[in-house]
Amino acid sequence: MSEPADYYDLSRIRPEVLAVLTRINELGRERFAPRARAIDDEASFPVENYKDLAAEGFLTLTVPQEFGGHGFSLGEYAMVGAEIGKYCGATALTFNMHNSSMMWSRFMYELPSLTDEDRAAFAPLRERQFRRAVKEQGIYSQPISEAGQNWTSKPAQTACRKVDGGWVINGFKKFASLAGYCDYYSIVCTEHFEGVEPRHEDTMIFVVHKDAPGLSVTGSWDPLGMRGTNSRDLVLKDVFVTEEDLMMPRGIFIKTLPHWPHMMATLSPTYMGVAQGAFDFTVAYLRGELPGQPPADRRMFGTKRITVGKMYAQLAAMRALWWQAFMEAQGFPSKAQVMRMYAAQYNVMEGVQEIAALAIRTCGGQSMLKSLPLERMYRDSRCGALMLPYTSEIMEDYLSVLTLYDLDELDKAPGDEGGARSSLWRGTGGTLKGLR
Ligand SMILES: Cc1cc2nc3c(=O)[nH]c(=O)nc-3n(C[C@H](O)[C@H](O)[C@H](O)COP(=O)(O)OP(=O)(O)OC[C@H]3O[C@@H](n4cnc5c(N)ncnc54)[C@H](O)[C@@H]3O)c2cc1C
Repeated sequence: MSEPADYYDLSRIRPEVLAVLTRINELGRERFAPRARAIDDEASFPVENYKDLAAEGFLTLTVPQEFGGHGFSLGEYAMVGAEIGKYCGATALTFNMHNSSMMWSRFMYELPSLTDEDRAAFAPLRERQFRRAVKEQGIYSQPISEAGQNWTSKPAQTACRKVDGGWVINGFKKFASLAGYCDYYSIVCTEHFEGVEPRHEDTMIFVVHKDAPGLSVTGSWDPLGMRGTNSRDLVLKDVFVTEEDLMMPRGIFIKTLPHWPHMMATLSPTYMGVAQGAFDFTVAYLRGELPGQPPADRRMFGTKRITVGKMYAQLAAMRALWWQAFMEAQGFPSKAQVMRMYAAQYNVMEGVQEIAALAIRTCGGQSMLKSLPLERMYRDSRCGALMLPYTSEIMEDYLSVLTLYDLDELDKAPGDEGGARSSLWRGTGGTLKGLR
């Protein structure tokens, strides 16, 4: 299937978005899918796919048009991510880290809660990031996770301290997707002050160039799935940054993030795509239409047909909710929009595993040979539900407390021993729990 399938209501998609979706499917079929096996085998980075994305101008999908980008909304970008995910999960997942950096620069700036002063300080910083993406085709990563603690529970352990002319950053980032392959790292850290315990409100976000002295990529990378993400470790040792290197002015990250909760759900497009990829594989395999395979018709058993029906029903429900949640994504969402987004995240991250497992079961033993992509999709599908901050367990918790408690009761709701509710949406007037 090379064109964006009508699993979307195509009449609701802008022509310029449809054109990108169509081109992504051509690239996916002709280039990303054929390259995916070697990338997975070697746990190497999809360098050639990024060259293709850059050549098409797709590194600027979410950059505002006035800066030379496509100006896609979050939902429009999400559809592109999902189409890439059908062909190569690792490309889609890493592409999300790049786009998230662009979207943070764009959408946080637009929030009505920012003052004129905030915006005046923010404007040159975001312009710098957009210029890099448009003019230099710079690629951004987003290493936030740190080993041994949930970054949403406590202030980031990576620390910056004020020095003459700027700050020095020291710390460690775990699972830094694109490590060694991006141009810029978006580093979330906590500003430390003498005699003050690290606090959420002192969270800073800097953009660090790959060649900055003191920044190094370490560790090995030989995981179960999403092997092409190259999510190795990042060490920051006395990395010097200046005011210009801030992604957002001091205080803005923590002031804006609670009001754009969809921004943390952007890993789901990748897994929506992997689920569709596993389904498309199943259909082609059973019909005997898989490219490069003998044309064996395997549709004769009712058991196989029923499973395909079940897969379709689950996939259609997943996509409908997910699309609704992403198309209505906005800053200062309503409670219903947030709940739909949490539910969509949960359904996609759980559903992708179920669909990939059903695909293997119904296609059978020959379909899980490494020579076919389903085996990789199955392994990739296992990686989504555990990705912070919106893991499946955390989504269950958020959905349950938002259903059973009023917003003003959330602080008293039991069951937050691990502190995962720091990133729980708490209403229009809400802040992160760590800020009270
Ligand atoms: C392929 C891949 C690519 C990644 N790329 C990036 C990246 O580019 N940038 C980035 O920042 N991170 C990235 N990550 C990291 C990812 O988002 C998670 O942070 C990480 O996988 C968590 O691993 P952990 O061992 O610390 O598990 P844990 O944090 O221990 O999580 C295990 C389970 O414990 C539960 N849990 C965790 N914390 C809490 C809590 N406070 N309260 C209640 N329950 C909790 C969760 O439900 C989770 O499923 C990537 C991960 C993978 C697998």
